[in-house]
Amino acid sequence: MDQEIDIVKSIRQHLEIDSFLTGDFAVRGEGLVVEYMPQVPEQEAVSENLEQVQIKDTQKNSDTHMTKKDAITQLKELSSEIEKCRDCELGSSRVNAVVGEGSVSARIVFVGEAPGANEDKTGKPFVGRSGKLLTKIIEAMNLSREEVYICNTIKCRPPENRDPKPAEKQACRHFLAKQLEIIKPEVIVALGSHAAKSLLEVDKPIGQLRGKFHDFYAQQGAEPIKLMPTYHPSYLLRNYNYNSRKRVWEDMQAVLNELNLPVPTKNPTEK
Ligand code: SF4
Repeated sequence: MDQEIDIVKSIRQHLEIDSFLTGDFAVRGEGLVVEYMPQVPEQEAVSENLEQVQIKDTQKNSDTHMTKKDAITQLKELSSEIEKCRDCELGSSRVNAVVGEGSVSARIVFVGEAPGANEDKTGKPFVGRSGKLLTKIIEAMNLSREEVYICNTIKCRPPENRDPKPAEKQACRHFLAKQLEIIKPEVIVALGSHAAKSLLEVDKPIGQLRGKFHDFYAQQGAEPIKLMPTYHPSYLLRNYNYNSRKRVWEDMQAVLNELNLPVPTKNPTEK
C-alpha cells in the first residue's frame, strides 16, 4: 500500500514538474517585504564563449568610463584566458571551461556554483533540465537569457559533480570578480546554497540567506552590488512544491522591484 502511494506521489510530482517546465513559472504573490542586509566588506570576496554575448542597447556601460566595445573586448580576452587556464586540478579533467553567456550590459547576473556534465560537454552554463527551468524563471520575469548574464563561481566541472575544493574556489574566484567588474550588474542572483555561501563567505543555510539582499564586494574597495540568494533550479526540480516555487518567485519579484522593473503578478496556469 505504501509502495502504491509512493508511485502515485512520484507520478504526480513528475507531471507537476513537466507542467512547471512548460507553463509559466510565476506564482501569484502577496505584497512583498524584502529585508536588506548590509554586510561589512570582506577583503576580496569573490570574486564566456563570448560569441554568445549579445549586446543590449542600454546606457549602462556608456555612462561609465568603460564603453560597450571596451567591455566586449575585455570579456573576450577574459574568455580566452579562462579557456586556457590550468591553475587548479579541474583544468586537466574538464572537457570545456564554462565561462558564461549573456549580455555584457546585463543588469542582473545569475551565478551558480559550478558546471555539471551537460555544461562541461557544451561549454555553456545552465543547460539541461536545470537550465530549462532557469530560463523559465527568467522569462517569468519578462526577461530573456540574452538580456541577463549567466555564469558560475567555478569555471570548470568538478569530476562526478563533487563539491569544489577550497583551493579550487580560491584559484578561480578572480575570474568571476573580473566578469562582474566588466559587466557591472546592479543585482547578482546567487543560485543555491553553495554559490551564495561562496560569494558571501558565510556558512548559513540558503533558507536563512534567501529573501533578502546582501552586499557583495567583488574586490576590496569596490562598490557593493546587491546580491539576492535563492534556491538552485536543480533543488526546485528535486523538491517541487508550491512553497519552494513561491519562495523563488518572491526572490525574483524583489529583484525586479530593486531594478524598478515591472513585476508580473499574473500566472495564467495557476489554479
Ligand atoms: S576551475 Fe578556474 S582556476 Fe581551475 S582550471 Fe578552471 S578556470 Fe582555472
